[in-house]
Amino acid sequence: MKSTCAAAVFVDSSKPLELRQFPLPDKLDKGAMLCKVLMSTICGSDLHTIAGRRREPAPLILGHEIVGRIVALGDADATDARGEKLEIGDRVTWTIMASCGRCRYCRLNLPQKCEHLKKYGHTCCEEAPHLTGGYAEYICLLDGTAVFKIPCTIPDDVAAPANCALSTVINATEAIGLQAGETVLIHGAGLLGLNLAALAREAGAAEVIMVDVSAPRLALATDFGATQCINTSVTPWSKAVEQIADTTPCRGVDVAFEVCGWAGAVAQGVEALRIGGRYLIAGLVMPGSDLAIDGNTLTRKCLTIKGIHNYRPDHLGAAVDFLQQNCRRYPYVDIVGATFPLSDINNAVAAAATGTHLRVGVTT
Ligand SMILES: [Zn+2]
Ligand SMILES: [Zn+2]
Repeated sequence: MKSTCAAAVFVDSSKPLELRQFPLPDKLDKGAMLCKVLMSTICGSDLHTIAGRRREPAPLILGHEIVGRIVALGDADATDARGEKLEIGDRVTWTIMASCGRCRYCRLNLPQKCEHLKKYGHTCCEEAPHLTGGYAEYICLLDGTAVFKIPCTIPDDVAAPANCALSTVINATEAIGLQAGETVLIHGAGLLGLNLAALAREAGAAEVIMVDVSAPRLALATDFGATQCINTSVTPWSKAVEQIADTTPCRGVDVAFEVCGWAGAVAQGVEALRIGGRYLIAGLVMPGSDLAIDGNTLTRKCLTIKGIHNYRPDHLGAAVDFLQQNCRRYPYVDIVGATFPLSDINNAVAAAATGTHLRVGVTT
């Protein structure tokens, strides 16, 4: 195997990503592994960093939505998160983070909030093992990362984004206790919202109402299982709420999700909930997302509001299982709309920033 590999490095938002060479580790720590990156997809959070809207410990290799092939293992008897033996050559996905398993948050079953958390695509590349992001030929997986084998029926471009959006919304549906027969409102037809629509349908939701301002995204939402779409750039919210009340048995939805990143969606979703309804916030990842909600409404409508961030290893396992069963039932193969080689990373980023594609892929 070669001794160095290429990676695209983010320095600061005024500069394009730089292709640099990094040493490949000659020895791996116990629990670590080295993977060849097969494909990474460019997430909205990466675009926020590149555009200077979000701060990260630069210089760093961005990219956390990755599918890879194991080329070296720190332990000869390493297993995946289901306890199956891992071999060199296995195609795998992994959690976006490595957790210690011992701190108070790990013990509270919130490993994504580990006190010693390391997140792929969010770690400075100046210190060893350097290769901790997806926009690279190889990536070093750290001890404490949950790895899952990917069945051959799931192609690379379907598998790559699963360790971000799909796993997060599996956490969301579990956290809010989505039940068969319930009516669901989803605010935001991006990748989180589309995955959520498909999950809600497969969970037996009676109605899946998608709200967005983009007609093309709403058209896609129908393909991902939405039963009703409301374009709020055309329909005023006051009318939308009436429409929702008229099409739900309790004159309001049982469950509503914010997955659009716009704080104003929460007050709207709360208005669309039935008495005793539940609301889940998963997309407000930027500071300053103040919610204009009257506490009196929460009290009198007996509402539950919850937040989630990222996910646990078992959610990623459920994401792999969900894709194995459903990736042909919904247009998962259309998620990656364009693919670029790593050597053309800046054109890949430019294509992703147009918003034309749900995801842009980067291959090596
Ligand atoms: Zn992501
Ligand atoms: Zn921990």
